[in-house]
Amino acid sequence: MKGGLPAVIDPLRLAREGARLVGRLPLESMRRLKAACLEARGGVELALQFEQSAQGLGQMRGHIEARLTVRCQRCLEPMGLTLKSEPRAVLLSGEDRQEQLAAGADMIVITKPVSLVELVEDELLLAMPMMPMHPREACPAAPFLAPDAAADDATSENRPFSVLGKLKRPRE
Ligand SMILES: [Zn+2]
Repeated sequence: MKGGLPAVIDPLRLAREGARLVGRLPLESMRRLKAACLEARGGVELALQFEQSAQGLGQMRGHIEARLTVRCQRCLEPMGLTLKSEPRAVLLSGEDRQEQLAAGADMIVITKPVSLVELVEDELLLAMPMMPMHPREACPAAPFLAPDAAADDATSENRPFSVLGKLKRPRE
């Protein structure tokens, strides 16, 4: 695989070994992320450290970054989007007790070997804004919008997966 990265990893074993994965994956290999982009060129840079916590639990932390070309949802012109993720997750086998975790810690339950591409792609999809837009001052469509339309600017709350909790609630 390009960059010498393994295609399939056992995160729990990597954590026991204190392994570090550094390299680049082709955007072309990420089907779901690619579908959100105008171009499939380019790559995803990653640096992931696997280690054991003081409590003996495996954990993964690091940095993932992708430069994408997406469509601005205000003017519909192409725009560059740098997507960054700083994953920090506790790795659990099926037998680990989840109550050992600090409240709010991300966790990944590992029951089988994991595709590195899918793991990295999942992290990037979580960081993807639902409505990518040029900064307002740089967007060709902004002069034609009423000032109070500024409320639709992308914010850190504007993530497609962060609204799932709300969507799951029964309708009234
Ligand atoms: Zn725009």
